[in-house]
Amino acid sequence: MLSWLIAKGGHDSWINPAKSLVSCMFFVLTSGSNMRERTLELMKKYPLIDGHNDLALQLRILHNNKLSQIDLHNVSNVATDINRLKTGHVGAQVFAAYVMCTAQEKDAVRLTLEQIDVIRRMCSEYQELELVTSAEALNSSKKIACLISIEGGHSIDSSLAALRMFYQLGVRSMALTHTCNTPWAESSSKLYSFYPRSNNSLTKFGKAVVAEMNRLGMIIDLSHSSWDTAQAVIQISRAPVTFSHSSAFAVCKHDRNIPDWLLHMLKENKGLVMVNMHSRFVACSDSGNISNAADHFDHIKKVIGAEWIGIGGDYDGASRFPHGLEDVSKYPALIQELLLRGWSEEELSGVLRDNFLRVFGEVERVRDELKGTIPAEEQIPFSEAANPCRLVLRPPKPVTLSTRNAPSHAQSGHAAVFAMVFAMLMIHFNPLL
Ligand SMILES: [Zn+2]
Repeated sequence: MLSWLIAKGGHDSWINPAKSLVSCMFFVLTSGSNMRERTLELMKKYPLIDGHNDLALQLRILHNNKLSQIDLHNVSNVATDINRLKTGHVGAQVFAAYVMCTAQEKDAVRLTLEQIDVIRRMCSEYQELELVTSAEALNSSKKIACLISIEGGHSIDSSLAALRMFYQLGVRSMALTHTCNTPWAESSSKLYSFYPRSNNSLTKFGKAVVAEMNRLGMIIDLSHSSWDTAQAVIQISRAPVTFSHSSAFAVCKHDRNIPDWLLHMLKENKGLVMVNMHSRFVACSDSGNISNAADHFDHIKKVIGAEWIGIGGDYDGASRFPHGLEDVSKYPALIQELLLRGWSEEELSGVLRDNFLRVFGEVERVRDELKGTIPAEEQIPFSEAANPCRLVLRPPKPVTLSTRNAPSHAQSGHAAVFAMVFAMLMIHFNPLL
């Protein structure tokens, strides 16, 4: 650029280097601000649909879900609030109803209901937000649209009926696992020892979950699932799937990221990978920069094309983010970097929102196609989901009280007969009656 300026500046520039330097700085500043303007124009036209955000988890941890204690416009100790969503040109946010894996076999279903409740509350109590449950409503919303996803199949406690009820509450996406295996699907993480799997990364019941999600029109999210489970799901799903917050394994070798062979399968499925901003996934370290994040977009585009890419920031779920991408207000910096790398506006409109809308619309189309199919009645065998919190329905047993504390039924029967005979004798021999 300097040589271009010198050539353009001609004789004057050579005799006045100070003037040339000022021209150069002016060019850099104006082209930088032009690029910024171009980015913001683009994001205004195509507000971002962010595939994954854990603000609800932080509301649980920091405020015990007491929304009355905070002003969601400005929350200092998290990475997401309404003001920063606006600054970041986020037009829609998928909020995760996530509960820790340690709740599996305990109260995961109740906790998930409570997380759905807090998301529904915040999206109805703030006029800037709006809960949506269809691709059409998502696209036409004039507010920041909220979608609800469940993060981890442990939330349904191996029950298709529970899955259906979550759909009724507005849930439109579910990750099959979080960092723990469920009785029917395998996690990419080995953190927990729940339900160890070997050669059955998706069980018969797991296949029924996939089919039922297709029937309901719920997006199957494969972030956190093992690659084997992801492969098994893609092979049978009738609808496109997503990886709502995963990046490219070839760029950063983390098992939460997606290898190229799986990206090819995802393209065949017409699905979507929504690139995660967490430093450990984009830079394989606790520190990273915007360029590290952009490398994942470039790589995935090179391998399968831009039509299958979105953004799933993972803000308030992950702890470390690249310098310059610290919270949801910073998305324009990422889009500007992609523009500088030669991404076209058409490619970026897809990354920002159109690709997600296409996938969601396709999931709904499959749902409509399956309209005549009755709800699945598959139940997981007790042997596969045995845990102390699972009731096995049997006729109630007679109440047995300890002989020490109370007489048995037989004993109390004898006592009653004895009391009756005694009373009759008393009546018979009582001269007063
Ligand atoms: Zn996650």
